[in-house]
Order: sequence, then structure tokens, then C-alpha cells
Amino acid sequence: MTASPSPAPASLADAVALLEAHDEVVLACHVNPDGDALGSMLALGLALRDRGTRVLASWGSRPFEVPSPYRDLPGLDLLVPADQVPPAPALLVTFDTGSVDRLGALGDRVAAAGDVLVIDHHASNTCFGTLNLVDVTAASTASMVVDLLDALGLPLTRDVAACVYTGLVTDTGSFKYVATTPDVHRLAARLLETGIRHDLISREIWDTASYGYVKALGLACARSVLEPDEVGGLGLVWTAVGVEDLERYGLVLADVEGVIDVLRTAREAEVAVVVKTDPEDGLLKVSTRSKGRVDVGSVCVSLGGGGHRFAAGFTSYEPLGPTMERVRAALADVPHLPA
Ligand code: AMP
Ligand code: MN
Ligand code: MN
Repeated sequence: MTASPSPAPASLADAVALLEAHDEVVLACHVNPDGDALGSMLALGLALRDRGTRVLASWGSRPFEVPSPYRDLPGLDLLVPADQVPPAPALLVTFDTGSVDRLGALGDRVAAAGDVLVIDHHASNTCFGTLNLVDVTAASTASMVVDLLDALGLPLTRDVAACVYTGLVTDTGSFKYVATTPDVHRLAARLLETGIRHDLISREIWDTASYGYVKALGLACARSVLEPDEVGGLGLVWTAVGVEDLERYGLVLADVEGVIDVLRTAREAEVAVVVKTDPEDGLLKVSTRSKGRVDVGSVCVSLGGGGHRFAAGFTSYEPLGPTMERVRAALADVPHLPA
């Protein structure tokens, strides 16, 4: 690296200067990308390409396959598989990525890059860039990209807006979560004014799945376990999705992202946990959600992962039983926030 990492937060002006100094940029988002990872990355990628920058975008996990809700996004032609990303980019920009390990196979580009611009909103962000644009109050990384585009003087085209909306609607749970501020709605209005088909974007993300998923969701919920005494008496509900479930119903890991959204509706449990086995590496990908009384973000950091206060995850290298024992133990110790 030509510059040493600066843990101090960067200003938008610093980020603008960095982006304006480069006519070629590599973009990377976190492994197993969600709507905010892909949406924020493609939004900046499209806007930079429109003004003449050479742009490549990627992520470092397999399969290198855009999850089905995002297959109509503009800018998918910017994507190249991780092994086609240059080994030492002059400028690497990362999106929605709290730490180097979340870049997977692209993690080594951080040390090799000339400069690294980190754009993210995770409380657990380790500021691994040479410039770190980290705003834990931002509802999505995609919203931060709009601030950056405004500072760069680049237009919010309809295609860029579709990508931003995808990130915003994903991370606010359709404008339901606490991060949904008046500014979020003002941004949504601006995005809609470009003429995006927000109805189709939302339908793909929230209301469309294969029938195989419907069956798998039913199975995962039917086998779930409610443990009312866990989390210091606030209650835990959890389930697991195995490789055999994915195979049986013709699904990939990204297809079962939504299981936690149904499981967490159980009123009897403060915390919901879904343990998914990743067929690519055999490791357990653990998703956690809380209703607001428990900071699952800190819990997941203590278990080697990260995320937000009420939505977080970690990767477990142990089998299901010991993994759940560690989760129960970590949740038993956690202070309860006021109701
Ligand atoms: P998920 O449960 O996969 O939807 O993730 C919820 C939140 O936790 C997201 O903000 C993720 O970026 C974050 N997260 C999930 N898994 C990990 C992990 N292994 N390490 C760090 N953050 C994670
Ligand atoms: Mn994300
Ligand atoms: Mn995000």
C-alpha cells in the first residue's frame, strides 16, 4: 500500500478527490451480496462509467451468480468474477463491507491496492481503508453513495436510482426499520422522481420466490425451536437450513435469506437465529435478529462476525450443536436494552 490506513473518518471531499484522481477503479462488495452490497456498488459503478471511468465490480464468494431478486438491476455488465480482478488495483472501493474478511477471495486486494476507499454503515466497521467513509447512522450504504454522487456532481440517472433504491429498500426492510428517517423518505422521493419501477424492484425482493423456497421455508419454520428461558428470559427462536434442504428444493444459499424474516415474527422470542450451511465451503452462516432489547451486533462481533445492532451474523467453523451452545452462552450474558 502506498499510504498507511487512516482510522480517522474521511470527508466526502477526500473521497471526491480520490475518485477524481483515478480513471480506472475496482469495486468490491461483501461476500454473498445482498441488495445493499450490490445496489450501492452498481450505483457508483454506473455513475463513474457514465463519466468515462473504467470500472470493474466483483465480490469474493461463490457461486458468482447474481441472486435472483437482483437479476434485472442495471449495470450487471460491470461485474467480473473475482479471479478476473487485477491483483493490485490502483484504487479499490469497497461497499457495505465491515472488515477485510468480508471480502472473501478479494481480501488480498486490500493490502495490494494503491488506495482503498471504504464506503459502509456497519457499526462493526474496522476502517481497513486508506480512506474510510463510514456512517453508522446511514440507513444503507446505497444512501451514502448518493451523497457521494452529489459531492462529485454526477447525475442521479434512472439506472443509478434503481440500484440505490434496491439497497435502500433492502436495508430498511421496506422502510420499516428504525433507521427509516425523514431523510430516508426524502431520498426515496428523489429516487422515484427519476421514474424507476419501485413496485417491480420491491416485488422481486420481497414478494417473489420459487415454489421450492415456499416448501423450504415451511420446513425450516416447522422444525424451529422456541427456547423461552434463553436470552436471560427474553426468549430465543432458532432453526437450521442444511445443504440437503437446498438440494431437495433446488435452492442456493441466497434463496433462503428470507427465512429469518418469517422466524423473527414470533412474539415469544426477542432473538431469532437461522443457521445455514453454505454448500460452497461447508461452513455455517449464522444470521441473528433482535426486536430491540438486545444488541446482537455486539454478540456477533464477540463470535467473530459483525453487523448492525439488531441484525447481524457470523461464520461458524463448528458443527450445529456447539455453534448453538456458543450463541446461547453469548446471548445469556448480554445486557438488556430498555423496552
Ligand atoms: P444476514 O443475517 O446475512 O442478513 O446479515 C445481517 C447483517 O450482519 C448484515 O449487515 C451483514 O453484513 C452482517 N453479517 C452477516 N454475516 C456476517 C459475518 N460473518 N461477519 C460480519 N458481518 C456479518
Ligand atoms: Mn449487506
Ligand atoms: Mn447495508
